[in-house]
Amino acid sequence: MNHLSVDDVKQMLLYVGETITASKDYLGQIDAEIGDGDHGTGMATGAEAFMKKLRESEFETINDVFKTTGMEMMKSMGGASGIIFGTMFSDGVKQLESKSSIDHTGLADIFRGSLDSVKKRGKADVGDKTMIDALDPAVQTLESDASKEWTLTEVLKHAEEAAWNGVEETKQITAKHGRAKTLGERTKGYQDAGATSVWLIFKSMREWVEQ
Ligand code: ADP
Ligand code: MG
Ligand code: MG
Repeated sequence: MNHLSVDDVKQMLLYVGETITASKDYLGQIDAEIGDGDHGTGMATGAEAFMKKLRESEFETINDVFKTTGMEMMKSMGGASGIIFGTMFSDGVKQLESKSSIDHTGLADIFRGSLDSVKKRGKADVGDKTMIDALDPAVQTLESDASKEWTLTEVLKHAEEAAWNGVEETKQITAKHGRAKTLGERTKGYQDAGATSVWLIFKSMREWVEQ
């Protein structure tokens, strides 16, 4: 599979939602180490909301599928991560023309938009121990692979690996944003919960495309 239709994107994001829901405890435990432990329940709440909406809606464009997914997260989750992950899904397509099919170049365009919007909205950047530490390298990988004649699975696998390396890097960083920042130096050694979610999102997109 090298092109995703509107329905493919919907099914892929439903699978992402299932994965997030199934990872609720894992994400909660990671957040509990240096945060307040609610990241898993927050993400699962957002996933339940967007899965319900995706299931009951008909979509004309890929842009609408992404936009709806993010809007449902923002509406249902609240808090910093509701805005951050909502923006990641909804704002990547904002500047793009309407599409009914995308290949890996299209996916790179969408997630570039996501990354730029998340950085603007949350005023964080690479090295601040947030989900950006996973999203930025994943997007860079998508962009550099856009010119290669790779399958969508290969491209997503590469982005997934870049996201995971970013998660590993967050262990070396002292948190500057969100609740973990109050713990300062104590956050060293622990991976960021939001970055872990980004990795799970890329991993599940890859798994869906691969099957
Ligand atoms: P909260 O911090 O409100 O309890 P969550 O636990 O659900 O929310 O989410 C925390 C995650 O949100 C962090 O691990 C981090 O990756 C991400 N995050 C927090 N603030 C920002 C920000 N300004 N920019 C990007 N990501 C952020
Ligand atoms: Mg919280
Ligand atoms: Mg939290």
